[in-house]
Amino acid sequence: LRSELDHVERLSLVGQMAAGITHEIRNPMAVVRGFLQLMREKSTDDLDSYYQIVLEELDRANSIINDFLSLAQSRVSDKEKVLLHRVIEEVSPLLWADANLRGQSVELKLNASIHELELNVREIKQLILNLGRNAMEAMGPKGVLTLETRNIQDKVELIVRDRGIGMSESQREKLFSPFFTTKREGTGLGLSLCLSIVERHNGKINVDSVEGEGTVFTISFPLVKEEYSGAILAD
Ligand code: ADP
Ligand code: MG
Repeated sequence: LRSELDHVERLSLVGQMAAGITHEIRNPMAVVRGFLQLMREKSTDDLDSYYQIVLEELDRANSIINDFLSLAQSRVSDKEKVLLHRVIEEVSPLLWADANLRGQSVELKLNASIHELELNVREIKQLILNLGRNAMEAMGPKGVLTLETRNIQDKVELIVRDRGIGMSESQREKLFSPFFTTKREGTGLGLSLCLSIVERHNGKINVDSVEGEGTVFTISFPLVKEEYSGAILAD
């Protein structure tokens, strides 16, 4: 599955998002309002669980707003020339920490890339974290998340692999749609954000998934032009 949105699609995506976010924020607000009312009207034994629900719904609304803001962020990105495997090494402690809490592990197969890419490091870290967290959420304890880099002629690939629940065909089709989620506490914005980050880097994102076996996300980044021709001359 390859997703490339053209300009018109992107504009309609923004409209879709605006409608979606209104809806998605109203839901938790309605729940919070309902439960606050219940808490005022009834003296109940369930108070603790009501508080819990109210707090969770507020957190959810907050996550939606945060994800949405990252997505809507200015398109002016400050890119720098960096080596992809270095960026992965910098974020991996965060993934290790998450994996530890879940009883899972993280495996890195980083082929040192020879070629620097022009990356917005902050965005690429966010991309790796989002894909990595999805992978972990798809696996039970003992799950293994694998991050890999691969050097190919005119591009560098980042491969994020899990041995989790995988996805059905119909799930795969909706994967990058804003607010599509199969998780109780999900926002459904993570992959929309990933897609827009990859597009801003002129990259491509590819998904292979088998239900019950796992999922592989492959992101390819083009090499900076002069780097590439330089490499040919050097060969
Ligand atoms: P969220 O994580 O909040 O649900 P995302 O946009 O990150 O939102 O992901 C959307 C949906 O895509 C998930 O709810 C899940 O159904 C599916 N998905 C994403 N990554 C994976 C994965 N590695 N394995 C299985 N399903 C996945
Ligand atoms: Mg996610």
